[in-house]
Amino acid sequence: MDELDTALNCLREDLRATKAYPVQSAAGLVKLDVMENPYRLSEALQAELGRRLGAVAINRYPAERTRDLAAALAAHAGMPAGCAITLGNGSDELIGLLSMAVSRPGAVVLAPLPSFVMYEISARYQGLKFVGVPLHADFELDEAAMLAAIAEHRPALIYLAYPNNPTGNQWDEGAIRRIIAAAPGLVVLDEAYQPFAQRDGMALLRECPKVLVMRTMSKFGLAGVRIGYLIGAAALVNEIEKLRPPFNVSVLNAEAGLFALEHAEVYAEQARALRAERERVLAALQALPGVQPFPSQGNMVLARVADAAKTFEAMKARGVLIKNVSAMHPLLANCLRITIGTPDENAAMLAALKESLS
Ligand code: PMP
Repeated sequence: MDELDTALNCLREDLRATKAYPVQSAAGLVKLDVMENPYRLSEALQAELGRRLGAVAINRYPAERTRDLAAALAAHAGMPAGCAITLGNGSDELIGLLSMAVSRPGAVVLAPLPSFVMYEISARYQGLKFVGVPLHADFELDEAAMLAAIAEHRPALIYLAYPNNPTGNQWDEGAIRRIIAAAPGLVVLDEAYQPFAQRDGMALLRECPKVLVMRTMSKFGLAGVRIGYLIGAAALVNEIEKLRPPFNVSVLNAEAGLFALEHAEVYAEQARALRAERERVLAALQALPGVQPFPSQGNMVLARVADAAKTFEAMKARGVLIKNVSAMHPLLANCLRITIGTPDENAAMLAALKESLS
């Protein structure tokens, strides 16, 4: 055995047996695969941001500006009294910190399935048991199954994506309340798609201290910047804060995040446009024979077709990249997830889809 093999054998077997999180290449394609906001800032604002970033002292570790960003995000989100906020390098990192925070022998993480894949991946990498509870066929929460699984497994941590990815729907608030009441541990409401939804979980957090609200600036319009945040009872968040690498959010991220919040009305207008486009795309999909779209409160629409693999490849050949989520879960058989883009991108998507169905 050579030295490299010896080193590889020191790594975890479960790590070596898995594949890295796949990121599709989108070069030259209309990119409607990962729920990015398609709009950029105006040239004037982009230039102003460039000047702001150019003045940042990158020789220093981040401190003041990340604190400023945390305060600005708390104000933006309407953080309730008695709560605290912590920042992640995207909410992906916060999911990792949450797994670390509950990681001890026998601890269980629970989430409905299908939902955001990182909950399960992160739990498994922390040596936690993950329990997935299938949704109903219409992607609504199976409340009875959730309550039974909570009683059986006593999860330390429950994730509820609100709205859910990849299904796009926002689960019944009454069911969520009852799940929170039954939960013996933390309940994270993952509000990545909050800018596009009608409801949010801040009231639930105010009512119950085991609830944490997790949000991200990614879908807001800063996916490339990587800023996620977690708000909850100060006593809980301060414990999670201990696990946060002290300089996880760079000064450039912090400056860009602050700039975006200073121009929050620009992003609010973009979210409004995307919500209107979502309804237009949904209606157009409904009118297409052989396509079954599902209602969405996110910046994406899930749609079932006869042969998702074939339709996905045919659309890609026509220059449009979406995501085939069929293999994620049996409930998603032949389902495609389509991110809402600009009106032109959506028109290109609908034309490509029409041609790809025949
Ligand atoms: N939560 C949900 C529900 C998501 O869909 C995503 C990204 N697709 C994330 C969290 C992670 O977002 P980010 O790391 O970009 O903040």
